[in-house]
Order: sequence, then C-alpha cells, then structure tokens
Amino acid sequence: MFQHREQVKDQKMSDALRIQLSENLQSIRQRMQAACSRVGRSTDEVTLVAVTKYAEVDWVQELVKLGINDLGEARPQQISRRVEEFKDEIRWHLIGHLQRNKAEEVIKRAHLIHSVDSLRLFEHLGKLSKANSKPARILFEVNISGESTKDGFRSEDLIAAWPQIQIIDSLEIAGLMTMAPHSDDVAVARTVFQKLRELRDKMAIESGGRWPLRELSMGMSGDFEIGIEEGATIVRIGSSLFEGVSGLAHEDTKPQ
Ligand SMILES: *Cc1c(COP(=O)(O)O)cnc(C)c1O
Repeated sequence: MFQHREQVKDQKMSDALRIQLSENLQSIRQRMQAACSRVGRSTDEVTLVAVTKYAEVDWVQELVKLGINDLGEARPQQISRRVEEFKDEIRWHLIGHLQRNKAEEVIKRAHLIHSVDSLRLFEHLGKLSKANSKPARILFEVNISGESTKDGFRSEDLIAAWPQIQIIDSLEIAGLMTMAPHSDDVAVARTVFQKLRELRDKMAIESGGRWPLRELSMGMSGDFEIGIEEGATIVRIGSSLFEGVSGLAHEDTKPQ
C-alpha cells in the first residue's frame, strides 16, 4: 500500500515537472518568435540550443520528448556520458572551454563546437579532423567585450590570424560565438552582438566568399531576444528553460 502511494506521488510530481518544462519551453518559443517578427526574420532561421549543464537527466529526457534536438553542454566529459543515454538524433553542442587533450572525444560526438578560443586549439582540431572521417564543425569564440575573465579571441587577433587560419582546410568553420557581459543595461549586449555580426561580415568578405560564416551563436537566458534581433542563428538557453523545475524535483525527492 505504501509503495502504491509513493508511486502515485511520483507520477504527480513528474506531471508537474512535465507541465513546468512545457510551459517554460512554450514561453521561450513565443519570445523567440516575437523577436524574430520584430526584425522580419523567420523563426526557422534560429536554433534553440537547450543548455543542460545543470539539468538532471530526466529533465533533459522530458525536453527531448517536447521536441528539443539540440543540447548544449559545457564539459566534454558530460557529452561523452550523455551520448550513451540519448538517441542518435540529438545534436550535441560543446559550449564550454575545450582542453586539447579532450578534443578527440569531442570531435567524434559534437555536432558543433562553439568554443574554439585559440589558434593552438584550432590547429590541433585541424590535425585531428584530418585523421577523422568527419570534419569537425566549429565556431570561433570571440571576447568582444574584452573582459579579462572571458575566454575567446580578441576581435583584432582573430582578424589578424584569419589568412593563416584559412590555410587549414580540414575543418568546417561555421561561424562565430560570443557571450555578452552581465549587465542590467540591454544596450550593452546589443552593442556586443552588433560587433560580432560586423566582425563576421568582415571576415566573410575577406575570405572572398569561401567562408560565409553563417552561424552566429549569441544570446542566453538574459539576452536571447536581443541576440535574435541582431542576427543570431543560434541561442543557448539554460536557466530560463529550467525555471521552477528544480523546486519540483526537490519536492519529488524529499523524504516524507
Ligand atoms: C551556461 C551557459 C549558457 C546558458 O546560460 P543561461 O543564462 O543559463 O541561459 C549559454 N552559453 C554558455 C557559454 C554557457 O556557459
């Protein structure tokens, strides 16, 4: 009898979790749509990457059931672990710093590496990619705001290295990624995102059309609408997706 009561309770809790996640996702999709229509873009130009670095596996499974196919993780080990738990159709995005000794396992599994933040890492990925059947797809992470705590190329360094970068042809350079600084002033994020887009345009032109650098990965929970208005093709959203969920999960496991 006791067990039965517990099962009913579990069922209730996971329903609550499912409803909360579904509401969060719906609200984010609506906000993405509204941002797209403000600037005359189509919603299918923007991919939502669900950042699951702090999420429990069952929350992530629920999101996948709700139609999410792109998952972002900050650590290579987490991708390796979770690849086993999910179906093949998940596209894994590495969004955190990549150490060169983890590069090989990531190349095999990631759909897109957002965080190529140095020439050394790029060259290393190029070598590995040559040996691999599938070329790695990468974004250069750019530290537009110049904060010392942030990873990424400074814009001027990336531009300077661009001719040298293009000699390596074993990788697919899909575009650029950045993070805006934390700020209550939305104008700050907007300026950062505009600068990333301008840098992309400049690099694309300098490559003579060889690298259109189509992807702009910019925008998180606090600023994804601005990212979309400024041309993001990928937004990386974690905390807004899971708002209110950890409370429910906590209830779920609380001893009675
Ligand atoms: C954690 C993280 C995100 C998601 O941030 P939220 O504010 O939780 O949406 C996006 N991008 C990167 C690089 C991150 O590390």
